[in-house]
Amino acid sequence: MIKKISILGSTGSIGTSTLDVIAAHTDKFKVVGLTACENIGKLEEQIRRYKPSIVSVAKEKSAGILKDRCKDLKIEIHSGVEGLICVSTLPEADIVVSAITGSAGLIPTLAAVKAGKTIALANKETMVMAGEIVTKEADKNGVRILPVDSEHSAIFQVMHGGRWEDVDRVILTASGGPFLKWSAEEKKSATLKEALRHPVWNMGAKVTIDSATLMNKGLEVIEAKWLFNISVNQINVLIHPQSIIHSLVEFRDGSVMAQIGVPDMRVPIAYALSYPERLDLLMARLDLASIGMLTFENPDMKKFPCLAYAYHAIKEGGTMPAVLNSANEAAVRAFMQERIGFSDIEKIVGETMEKHNIMRADTLDNVLHADKWAREEAEKEISRIEGKH
Ligand code: NDP
Repeated sequence: MIKKISILGSTGSIGTSTLDVIAAHTDKFKVVGLTACENIGKLEEQIRRYKPSIVSVAKEKSAGILKDRCKDLKIEIHSGVEGLICVSTLPEADIVVSAITGSAGLIPTLAAVKAGKTIALANKETMVMAGEIVTKEADKNGVRILPVDSEHSAIFQVMHGGRWEDVDRVILTASGGPFLKWSAEEKKSATLKEALRHPVWNMGAKVTIDSATLMNKGLEVIEAKWLFNISVNQINVLIHPQSIIHSLVEFRDGSVMAQIGVPDMRVPIAYALSYPERLDLLMARLDLASIGMLTFENPDMKKFPCLAYAYHAIKEGGTMPAVLNSANEAAVRAFMQERIGFSDIEKIVGETMEKHNIMRADTLDNVLHADKWAREEAEKEISRIEGKH
């Protein structure tokens, strides 16, 4: 049976890698829905090549331009959050790939879960903000959430050879980002260009900056807690700069199983799309002899406080992880606009969390309220820092 796929965020790094996998396996997959934010040029190319029946973009004006450009085609073109929901709940779609960056992914992903779609989840922010709500809805609707993040895919794959009741801990590996060997002092003057130069992965800008602060690993700790229904005390982080071991699981008898391979997002994407089958992928194969050495170290949470903030947020619970995420999004955006320095990101996140009065995170209203509050608080601090320059 051909699986019908909608991709939220098809013009991004995960979105285009997903389309690469689909293009190589047209006997197995058919694209039915695509979405972008503003990149209508790339979306139009994708429309002409993959022929979805529905697409959506962020703004009404862009939708108007796209309609004009695609008037020779039979396609529905929508905009805004409603448009995203139309694509994510499209009746004919079997799988929704959630690959929008940031909190904008939450509402359409949750809508897809409620509509009973299988989710291939890249957008970790959805789980960080609303893990309780999303996992409850998934249980209620019998929905499978398949991980796309390479670390979570690794754990998912390893667990085909083990039972959760036998697991002592999971170990998420982290490349350490471009500033692993920089001192805290050097990190303060890191430029946007330096932060965007990831040593291993070629990803979207936001997740690349998150990798440089180690916030990305913190978000992944929270994502793992919800995806695998485990205690945060069972989740460890290990720096492994070569990114060959994608993550590990330690069992009660001391046995440790890992999933390893070349760092290429098409592998976890393909596995999420084709699960439980595996696909032939034409790509470089792992050559351990030429790699020679794999190295490991513990993360330095003093030098990278964002990781410590993420552990703190999930231990505090309620709306704190949503606040961590939203303050981080606001701070990263300000850093990308070169309004603040690199080290201001961690400062803004920490200070916003400190001011937050936690609410329960079992309703979308509470989560969205916390999200708005955190952005406003973070923005105040950003303006204060800007004013000092
Ligand atoms: P990109 O920035 O490359 O792509 C983001 C996609 O989302 C684009 O299609 C973009 O559209 C769209 N988008 C951005 N903002 C909005 C918005 N407000 N409303 C609607 N659409 C929007 O990101 P990545 O592909 O790198 O990452 C996507 C998600 O996957 C993130 O959550 C990230 O953490 C996660 N992830 C990414 C990995 C990677 O290797 N890239 C690895 C593991 C997880 P447009 O192009 O028009 O701007």
